[in-house]
Formats: sequence, C-alpha cells, structure tokens
Amino acid sequence: MYKLASIVLIIFNLLLTHYCVAQTACGQSQYMDHLKQTQPETYYHFIENYKRLSTEFRLKKKGTITDTIYRIPVFFNILSRNNRTVNFTKLDTMLAVLNRGFNRGDDTSIVREPFADNIANVRIEFYRALLDINGDTIKRLRAKNSFYYYEADDKMKYDDIGLSAYHPEKYLNIWVCNLTKLWGYATPPVYAAHWPESYYKPLHLQGIVLDFTTIVTEYSNNFEERRKTIIHEAGHYLGLRHTWGDGHLVIAGDSSECWRDDGIKDTPYTITPSRKCDDSKNTCIEKEGPDYPDQYENYMDYTNQTCAVMFTNEQKDLMLYNLTNLRSTIYDTAYRYTEIPEEYSPHYQTEIKAYPNPVKEDLHLEFSNIYLNRTVGLEIYSTQGKSVYHEVIVANFRKVISLNSLSAGVYYLEISADNNLIFRRKIVVLGP
Ligand SMILES: [Zn+2]
Repeated sequence: MYKLASIVLIIFNLLLTHYCVAQTACGQSQYMDHLKQTQPETYYHFIENYKRLSTEFRLKKKGTITDTIYRIPVFFNILSRNNRTVNFTKLDTMLAVLNRGFNRGDDTSIVREPFADNIANVRIEFYRALLDINGDTIKRLRAKNSFYYYEADDKMKYDDIGLSAYHPEKYLNIWVCNLTKLWGYATPPVYAAHWPESYYKPLHLQGIVLDFTTIVTEYSNNFEERRKTIIHEAGHYLGLRHTWGDGHLVIAGDSSECWRDDGIKDTPYTITPSRKCDDSKNTCIEKEGPDYPDQYENYMDYTNQTCAVMFTNEQKDLMLYNLTNLRSTIYDTAYRYTEIPEEYSPHYQTEIKAYPNPVKEDLHLEFSNIYLNRTVGLEIYSTQGKSVYHEVIVANFRKVISLNSLSAGVYYLEISADNNLIFRRKIVVLGP
C-alpha cells in the first residue's frame, strides 16, 4: 500500500512538474536549472547567502531616498526571423507599458483592501537609448536574422548565434527573440540580496530576454496577457524574486517552509505562484499580525495581466537599493541619498564617473573638465580601512586603475582635491 502511494505520488509530481513547465511565463526557474547543471558547486550556497544578504540589505536600508526619478537607457537587441519585424514605435509602446508599471500607472482600483495602502510608485523611468556610447545618435535598430529558438541559457547573448550585449554597464540590454515556451527571463544584479550566488552573471550577460509574443501584438493571440512580462522581468533585473520565492524549486522537499519566499517583508508569505486572480488563494499563514491572502496583484506573481498592477514599498526600496549600489553606472540622473555618507559631492554623478562596478580588472575614472589639470588624490581602501592603492595625479579626462592584484571583496574609492574629499564610492572587486 505504501509503495502504491509512493508511485501515485511520483506520477502526480511528474504531472505537476510538466504542468508547471508548460505553463511557465517566466524562465527564472529554467535558468536556475541550467545553472544548477553547469555550476553545481555554487548552486547550494542558497540558504547562507539568502540570510546574509537579507540581513545586509536591512542593516543598510537606513537612508531615505528622495523622490528623484531614476532614468535607465534601454538598448534593444532584436533576433528576428525574416518576417518578424520590430520597429522603434513598437518598442516605445512596450516601454510605456513598463513605465506605467514602475510609476504607478496601472489601474490599481482592483487591489484588495489590505494591500491598497502599500502600492509603490517606484519612480524609475526606462527610455529607449537615443545616443550610443560615443554620444552619437542611434539611427537604426540593432537587429539580426535568426531562426533559432532559444532557451534560458544565454545563447542569444553571443555573436555566433545571437548578439552580444551593448555596453551593459551603461545600458539595460533587452534581447527580443524566439524563446521556446518561455516568455522571458532576466539576470539579477551581482550581489543582490535573496539570490543564490549561481545567479550572479558576468556583466556581458546582464539584461532581460523577452519572447516576441510579449512585445509585438501580431505575433501572439495572447499578447494582452503577456505584455506586462517586461515589467516582471525588469523587477528581476533590479533584484526582485517571485512573490513565492521559487522555494519549492530551489530547495527540494522544503516546500512547507513558507518563510523562504521572496525575502520581502510587505508581501504576504506565499509558496506557489498564482495563475489567476483568486481571492481565496492563501498558501501560507503569516508568522505575526493579521493573516493575508496571497498577493496576486503583484507584478512578481504570475497572475493574469489585469490583476498584476503593483509593486510594494519594500520591493521599491530593494530595487532602488540595488540600482544605486549594484547598478550604479546605468542610470543617468543626479540624485540625493540622505543619511548614508557613501557618496560625497552633490555633483559626483555628473562630474566624476567610476566604472564598471562591480569591477574585475580595470577601473575607469572619468573627470569632467572642471577637474582638468587639478591635482587630485586617489585612494582605495578595504572595508577594514587598509589602504591598497594610493596615487596623486593631475586630472586628465580619463584615468584607468588596474585592480588585477586585489582579492575579491568590497572596497572604497576616495578622491580628494585641495585636501577636500570630493568623491567616495563603494566598489565591488570581483577578484582575479
Ligand atoms: Zn519571473
């Protein structure tokens, strides 16, 4: 009897697994399977990393971000079959959908009462890049004929059968291509909280991948249902996990542990995705306070697109934290971040640039002409306060510092002029 029950259970699980794969809108779990196979040694660091980074995020989140709009340039890479054309107008339409999601532009009147006070206006604006890396106008879409059907395995990001990323330190790269089954997937920032280390991908793989059916109306009967995929994937790109945290996929047999959901405190504990706007769905009991149903209104759930209309305030905080700390070279507006004395100088963002960050080998500094021919001191020190690099230079427009010899970790770069500290920035060194 016991054996029979086991067999029934196994068959049921197989059916369930197949069902999930067939229905999956977002390829994050497939991407994880790919990483599990190629990098098994890092895959199992999930729990430690989850706890460590969750704590770090909470400790650091002391500042108040002012209501500045962060603007992110988007660069599209189109891998098109001959008859599948995309133009700037269609892409701009999709960016408008994306911007509504990040600027509280969707109709939130359907949000149920317990969540209605916690709808965030993230205030991140995505715009199609108008200038290339040299400052010249981008006149044509970057596109290449491809009949390939891609998986969640990054092959579309290599020139042989795809298109390599265009300056991913400066642009959010979005690949639009034919995906098998999936609607899209994205890479979270390196060192983002709540992600297993195996998800931290090198810079040239960073970005969002979308299936054509989520972008262009005429290629999908289900376009209306899929068009908000771009919001969901941008959430991953800025470090959000699914509201249910993929717990049942990440830790086999641990699905009863509702606490391992998305690491976000103001989304209810959830263990499975919602596939419809089901008011009665409540997969976990909250540990304290009132119990809430699963939040199908959240963009990071799998709900149908009429119900997915919100991010929460803590999701907003985490995305802005990740953007300003882990994707700090990609947005192009000045901002102020109070209380955390990490960035000095109100002008640092426009007058001095330090990139890439995280950095593997060469750290590039760019000075605007107000520092031209001035004597500036450069100093890099470890989190223990030990100086690992020191140089006094006469500022030209550019300076490259080789960090080859530094071991992986967090460092601080300080730049001073006339004995005044004018720039301070946390730098993540990826190591040799
Ligand atoms: Zn997803």
